[in-house]
Amino acid sequence: MSAINNALSLNDKLHAHLSAGYPGFYIQSSEEARVDRILTLAATNLQLHLMEWNLAYGWVDFRTKQPRTEATQTELAYCLPVLADEDLSRKLIVIKDAKAALENQPLAIARLKQLLNRIQRHHRGECAVVLVAESLFIAPQIEAQITLLPLPLPGREEIIEQIESFADEQNLIIPQALLPRLAATCSGLSEEEIRQVLSMVQHPHPELNEAALGLIHYEKEQIIAKSGVLEMVKVGETASDIGGLENLKQWLKRRAEIFRRLDEAEGAGVTAPKGVLIAGMPGCGKSLTAKAAAHLFQLPLLRLDIGSLLGKYVGESEHNMRRALTMAESVSPCILWIDELEKAFVGMGSGEGSEVSSRLFGYFLTWMQEKTGAVFVIATANNISALPAELLRKGRFDEVFYVGFPNAKERSAILGIHLRQDWGQLTEQQQQTLTALCRDYSGADIQNAVGEARESAFLDGQPLTHEEIERAIRATVPLRETLREQVGKYEVLFEKLKLKPASRVDGLSIAQMIQLADSPNPVRRKEVACHLECPDDLLEKLSTDTDLEVRLSVYRNPNCTERLLASSLSKDKKAPDFDMSIYRLSCVHPRAPMDLLASELGKWDGSDYIQEEALLACSHLSDEVKLTLFNKSKSHQTRMDICRQSTLSVELQGQLIDTLWDARLSQTCVQFILLIANPVLDPSYHKKIASHNTVQIIDALICLENLTSEAQMVILADGLHFLKLAKNPNINQHVQLSLLLQALPESDAQSVLDALKPGSTSVFFYNIIYSHPFQDSHFEEVYLELSQNPNLSADAVRVLVAFERNDENSSIMLNLASNPSLPKHWQLEFANSNNHWLKTRLASNPKLQDAARARLQEQGIESTDSSSDTSGTTLGAGVFESMARAAVSGSVGNIFGGATMFQGGLFPSWFNGDKS
Ligand code: ATP
Repeated sequence: MSAINNALSLNDKLHAHLSAGYPGFYIQSSEEARVDRILTLAATNLQLHLMEWNLAYGWVDFRTKQPRTEATQTELAYCLPVLADEDLSRKLIVIKDAKAALENQPLAIARLKQLLNRIQRHHRGECAVVLVAESLFIAPQIEAQITLLPLPLPGREEIIEQIESFADEQNLIIPQALLPRLAATCSGLSEEEIRQVLSMVQHPHPELNEAALGLIHYEKEQIIAKSGVLEMVKVGETASDIGGLENLKQWLKRRAEIFRRLDEAEGAGVTAPKGVLIAGMPGCGKSLTAKAAAHLFQLPLLRLDIGSLLGKYVGESEHNMRRALTMAESVSPCILWIDELEKAFVGMGSGEGSEVSSRLFGYFLTWMQEKTGAVFVIATANNISALPAELLRKGRFDEVFYVGFPNAKERSAILGIHLRQDWGQLTEQQQQTLTALCRDYSGADIQNAVGEARESAFLDGQPLTHEEIERAIRATVPLRETLREQVGKYEVLFEKLKLKPASRVDGLSIAQMIQLADSPNPVRRKEVACHLECPDDLLEKLSTDTDLEVRLSVYRNPNCTERLLASSLSKDKKAPDFDMSIYRLSCVHPRAPMDLLASELGKWDGSDYIQEEALLACSHLSDEVKLTLFNKSKSHQTRMDICRQSTLSVELQGQLIDTLWDARLSQTCVQFILLIANPVLDPSYHKKIASHNTVQIIDALICLENLTSEAQMVILADGLHFLKLAKNPNINQHVQLSLLLQALPESDAQSVLDALKPGSTSVFFYNIIYSHPFQDSHFEEVYLELSQNPNLSADAVRVLVAFERNDENSSIMLNLASNPSLPKHWQLEFANSNNHWLKTRLASNPKLQDAARARLQEQGIESTDSSSDTSGTTLGAGVFESMARAAVSGSVGNIFGGATMFQGGLFPSWFNGDKS
């Protein structure tokens, strides 16, 4: 039916034109057999007799193609005169190979013109000449008398007919279920091309299957590509590959839905979507969207390269355009992606457009207006100023979208898309830093930077790190910077034309900011200067604004450019335009160049140019800057704050220790104490600090719960801090024993140590202990502390018990009884003791073993575990703050000396343990 339809439409056109007295037609086609069939049908319908001339034989029989005469001269110029004697009524004179026969053949053209004149004069409406050729050539002399008759490519049903007849002829089996898909795959091909692809698959596949379909599809791609004007694009991209552009994606999703339910939609009075024009910045996802749309619509994507349409011959560009659009229609339903649309209309917007552009434009507009096939057009363009205004008017396209540089949310999404799972490995803070660094970057810039980072990581044999990505982003010069002027111009234009933004924008769009930056109202300009998305070039422009508030807003903007900050920091302080408030803002800006800041601090004379407190709030300050600030600052508060910072690097800690080492002032001592108390202090410095000769410093150090063994040994050797050491629950076994044996002469202490070794006889051990009952109350205090140590070693327990053997009522024994580190066998011994108090205290031991508990129960003593308050070992930050305060008021020396301070709740729970 469709073959007939196509033919009929040609027949109708022939009929209409013939009746109107048109003497000549031109059918541009390489499908000779199909043209013959269509002409036969037309001639039959119109009751015309067909005559044919071709380049090979001159006049031939139209049906058999046999030469009509044995003429020696077959050129058209010499064959045409034969018609002089013919009756031309009801004749259709077909001239094949028309281009070759007429190009550069003035005689043939002249004689053809005579023939056309004769038809016009004497046989109007009953005779016509039909020129047929693969490509177009209409000589100017006959242009007015020739009408171009486009021959559409075979339609769906025509294709089905052709496939069925081919299958019959060639005994090719085509499963009925495959036929519609086969026809769809063949759409867009000429009859001859369909025959070719079918013949090709016939041999390996006598019965058509999926594999054959795939092959046909591939062949079709090659044929479409060969046409030079269209390309079938293979797509894998989906809407989730696009970061941002939410308005555009949403719009496309809705159109795709209509397209999928087109019949239903048309029934409900919804017009079929025509297409969309996406204009905007390069590298911001226009092409990506076109590809993702194919997935969204579930349709093939044909790309039309406008550049390839433009031919050098008259009419060639239009012909190519026509061919491309016809091909797209025949492949429909499909998406036709017209890339770089502006190329077709160069200069038209300014009224200087060439004739070709105007004609192309006209043709395109009419096609857009009248197209009936299910072809959804996605046109993309960078330079919107090159497009004729009519094209941007609603009605041509369903919508015109403007794609700008991505906003923060979109950049984050784009980074996430390109970094894939690596994005999820980054902390929220790192993600935010990278997103901010990419400001002014297009999606393509971001993709490039990520690609670079991946490449470096691969070559270094390292996993991709945040630092690597950051480095690559910093090294990328964004497109916006390269195309500064052009980009600005486009943005203004997009805003002026009120194109629909593809991105969902909260607040001001970039284009709006560009406009507002020129507003006479300083409040509006300030709004732009404060905006986090304000582009760099605009910030720089506003940095010289006449209004101080606007200028200050630029330097307060977290995205203020390094260039601006550098120039502000390096400005001569005596220059007339030097502004202290801007200088101070630049000093504390997180993006201030560190080297410049360090050099400024180096020159700093302590006057209030520098905002120390604000600077310190910037956690990113480099070590060099912090150290310079520390050395130069006269403020005790600033120096204390630096010592307390949780971001101090290990190197800087070392430098600060060196700086503070010889300090004599109580304030400096406080700073040192705060540095020691800083939880980030590297334990490798403990040993060095332990050798300091200031009591307050050692006091602070001994308090550290992670005090290294090496440092403990240094302090022990000093001999001045036994009691303070004993109070630290984390002292090691060796220090515990050393503290216990300090009252003994060195040789006896060594003998005790030897006796404690496995396998030694304890007799010797007890002999020594008993021969040296301790009497010194100073040591008693040390033992008392140790007896409460929750990490007391078994050997230390043994020595303590040996010391106290004769006095089970002593505080030391009672403390040992409730000490959680009291070994099992000692628990049992205590449980078997005759001392009621000792057993009662044992009953409160949080680590009371079953055997001891049972033994106590037999004696009617129930366990009263109070585990919660004996195990705490953490030194609160408050201890150090109190020390610091005390140091400033000159009373640090008392802190560890006076028991009253301990009982005042300043010390950790391990200290406040049971002191009955
Ligand atoms: P041009 O006008 O120069 O052709 P374009 O706007 O068509 O540019 P695309 O080709 O779509 O830009 O983008 C180039 C590449 O940049 C894409 O392949 C994609 O990897 C990346 N890209 C751009 N925008 C986005 C985005 N919004 N989301 C994810 N990736 C993007």
